[in-house]
Amino acid sequence: MTDRFFEDEHRMFRDSVRKFVEREIVPHHSQWEKDGVVPRELWRTAGSHGFLCLQVPEAYGGVGLEDFRFNMIMIEELVRVGASGPGFTVHGDIVAPYLIHYGSEEQKKKYLPKMVSGDCIGAIAMTEPNTGSDLAAIKTSAVRSGNHYLLNGQKTFITNGLLNDLLIVVVKTDPQAGHEGISLFLLERGAEGYERSPKLEKLGMHAQDTCEAFFKDVKVPAENLLGQEGAGFFYLMQQLPQERLAVAVGAVMACEAALDVTVQYCKDRTAFGRPIGKFQHNRFKLAEMKTEIEIGRVFVNHCVLLHNEGELSAETAAMAKWWTSELQKRVMDTCLQLHGGYGYMKEYFIARSFIDSRVQTIYAGTTEIMKEIIGRGMGF
Ligand SMILES: Cc1cc2nc3c(=O)[nH]c(=O)nc-3n(C[C@H](O)[C@H](O)[C@H](O)COP(=O)(O)OP(=O)(O)OC[C@H]3O[C@@H](n4cnc5c(N)ncnc54)[C@H](O)[C@@H]3O)c2cc1C
Repeated sequence: MTDRFFEDEHRMFRDSVRKFVEREIVPHHSQWEKDGVVPRELWRTAGSHGFLCLQVPEAYGGVGLEDFRFNMIMIEELVRVGASGPGFTVHGDIVAPYLIHYGSEEQKKKYLPKMVSGDCIGAIAMTEPNTGSDLAAIKTSAVRSGNHYLLNGQKTFITNGLLNDLLIVVVKTDPQAGHEGISLFLLERGAEGYERSPKLEKLGMHAQDTCEAFFKDVKVPAENLLGQEGAGFFYLMQQLPQERLAVAVGAVMACEAALDVTVQYCKDRTAFGRPIGKFQHNRFKLAEMKTEIEIGRVFVNHCVLLHNEGELSAETAAMAKWWTSELQKRVMDTCLQLHGGYGYMKEYFIARSFIDSRVQTIYAGTTEIMKEIIGRGMGF
C-alpha cells in the first residue's frame, strides 16, 4: 500500500530525511531526554537541509510543498526511531500554516523565512490550566489600548514551550462573545511580562520542552494580531484537521515500528522450547495487530490524499485521529506484553514507545472530543 502511495520524489526525500535523522538525531536523543530539551543547533541544521516548514511558499524562503506526503515522511521518519523530542511538526505543520493562511504580508516576511531556517522556533498556546477541550471557555484576554493590546492570563502544556521564539497565543478579545470573541496573537520571546515555567515533568516525551506561559500586562503591538479580531476560533477549526492528521500519521507509523521490533523479538525469544511467536495466542495477537495496523494505514493514506485535494473534513480528520491513536495504545500494550519483563526496561524501544504513545489520545483533541465532532456531524 505504502509503496504504491509514494512516488520517486517522495522516496528520494525519505532517503535524505532518514540519513539526516540517523546522523543528527538518533545518536543524541537519549542525552536530550536527560537534558529535557533538544539543542537549538539541531533546528538550524534541519533548516539548512530544507526540512522545516515544507509548506512555506518560495516567496518567504520555503519550498512551497503542497503535497502533504512530504510532511508525512518527515513525521514518519522521526516516529520510526522514537525521536519524540524535536517539535518540528508543531513548528512546521501546525504553527507555520496559521501564518501562511492568515498572516499579513509583513508578518509573513518577518517570521516565515526564519522559521524555515530554524532561527525562529514556533509554538501555539491554546490550552489553559482550567480549560483544554472547551476552547471557547479560555480566560486569557487581550484588551486594546491605543496601538497595542494588553495580554493577561496563563497557558499550559505548550509544546516547544521553552525553545520557541514565536508563540501564537489564543485569547479572548471579547469575553461576552463566546467563540466569536476569540483572536490569535503573535508573541515574541522577551516581551515584558511574558514568563515561562520550567519544563513540565511528563510521563514520556522527555526530550520535548513542554511548559507553561504566564502573561501579565504584556504589551503586544496591534500589528501582531493574526488575521481578523474575533476570527480566531474559525481559524483554529480550519487548521485543526491538519494537526489531527499529523497525529494519525504518527500513530500508524509508531504501530508499524512497534510491530516490527516485536515480530523480531517473538522470533528470537524462546520459551518452552520454541519461539514465543509460535504459541497460537501470540501468533493471533500478532496477526490481529498486523490486520488493524494495515487498516489504519490504508485509512490514513486515504486521508492524506483527501487533504491534498482540500477535501479532508473535520469529521474525517477526527475519525483518523481517534481511531489510530486508540489503536496505538492497544498495539503498544500488546507489544510490550509480548516482550515480557524486557518490555518494561527503558533501554528497550518498546518501553519508550509505550510511554511516548500515551499522550496521543489526549493532545490535538481527546478521543472523546473527536467522537463529539463526528457525532455532531451526524446531526446529533
Ligand atoms: C504533551 C502534551 C503536549 C501538548 N501540547 C499542546 C500545545 O502545544 N498547545 C496547546 O495549546 N495545548 C497542548 N496540549 C494540551 C492538550 O491539547 C489538552 O491537554 C487536551 O486538549 C485536553 O484538554 P485538557 O487537558 O484540559 O482536558 P479536559 O478538557 O479537562 O478533559 C478532561 C477529560 O474530560 C473529557 N471531556 C472533556 N469534555 C468532554 C465532553 N464534552 N464529552 C466527553 N468527555 C469530555 C476529555 O476527553 C478528557 O478525558 C498538550 C498536552 C500534552 C499532554
